[in-house]
Amino acid sequence: PETITVQELANRMAARVPEVVKSLMKLGVMATATQTIDADTAELVVEEFGHRSKRVSESDVELGLEGQEDSETDLKVRPPVVTIMGHVDHGKTSLLDALRSTDVAAREAGGITQHIGAYQVTLESGAKMTFIDTPGHEAFTAMRARGASVTDIVILVVAADDGVMPQTVEAIRHAKAANVPIIVAINKIDRPDANPNRVRSELLQYDIAVEAMGGETQDVEVSALKRQGLDALQEAILLQAELLDLKANPNRSAEGAVIESSLDRGRGPVATVLVQKGTLRQGDIVVAGTEQGRVRAMLDDHGQPLKDAGPSTPVEILGLSGVPGAGEVFVVVENEGRAREIAEFRQRKLREHAAAAGAAARGTLDQMLA
Ligand code: GDP
Ligand code: MG
Repeated sequence: PETITVQELANRMAARVPEVVKSLMKLGVMATATQTIDADTAELVVEEFGHRSKRVSESDVELGLEGQEDSETDLKVRPPVVTIMGHVDHGKTSLLDALRSTDVAAREAGGITQHIGAYQVTLESGAKMTFIDTPGHEAFTAMRARGASVTDIVILVVAADDGVMPQTVEAIRHAKAANVPIIVAINKIDRPDANPNRVRSELLQYDIAVEAMGGETQDVEVSALKRQGLDALQEAILLQAELLDLKANPNRSAEGAVIESSLDRGRGPVATVLVQKGTLRQGDIVVAGTEQGRVRAMLDDHGQPLKDAGPSTPVEILGLSGVPGAGEVFVVVENEGRAREIAEFRQRKLREHAAAAGAAARGTLDQMLA
């Protein structure tokens, strides 16, 4: 678990192998696609890719898209955005389903739940929280590689009968690299062979000290199957959210990230976006990555039409020119001409970037053959 091949690292970041090789060379490490590198080096590369995605948005500065600064007084509390990660079969999907079933708004909507890649839960108390419901690790790293940071909190699911496993460690690494706080959900406590204390002590090896071990990471025992411990988990999420002091200005044009997208036979390009700042309205003109268009219709996670969506709300939007990639940033712009101009600018940048990456790959190959 302490090493990874260059190829695998590239896959996980949705990056190209030559780019990863180049990044390694900057660190003084020469490696080909099939060679393994240690976890620390891999982490540095991941960081490096995070920085690089920031540099991509320098083109946004060129375009005057760097965004308005919000003054402190305009900021309002927003719901936390949560991603569930963990080893295969430890209960990520079951937990997402269990948490979804606690949504009081779903009852009003007649219980219809749509899979749109993210959903929001409204508790009895009125508190809201948003869950990203795409296959954990890949989505998380793909989004990070593209520059979007959508997650405020990671729920690390560890099965109490199985303990810390390779993908548990990987999830910890991702959360730490992204600087996102972890809440440990010790799942399957209904199982007779459940040993939550073993999980707690195993986590220490990976610098996760839960409260019972004298640390500050919250941990909650749950059973996704029996729907036990969900209240406590949600309380832990709300407490963590409070500590993070999550705020956004709802009274400005919207910005956010694409969670997932697809081409629908009848409806055309459909994208699930997470609004991160401002309020997205039906009729708004948006640019998402290299795609653009007018928001023809907006649907919530119950398939209900929406006119507007504030910070931390996931919505499905119709009307884009094409299918933007998961993790692309979207912004609302003033008119369609501007939207096309930005989309075309980005398409050109992308082509230039691809050409430069190709040239770099050839250079690397030459050096390796020399
Ligand atoms: P994922 O791969 O992490 O998404 O895991 P799943 O949610 O698909 O769960 C894997 C298996 O574990 C399924 O057979 C679930 O029914 C089972 N499972 C999930 N949560 C629990 C739990 O709390 N208790 C028990 N006994 N089984 C669970
Ligand atoms: Mg699953």
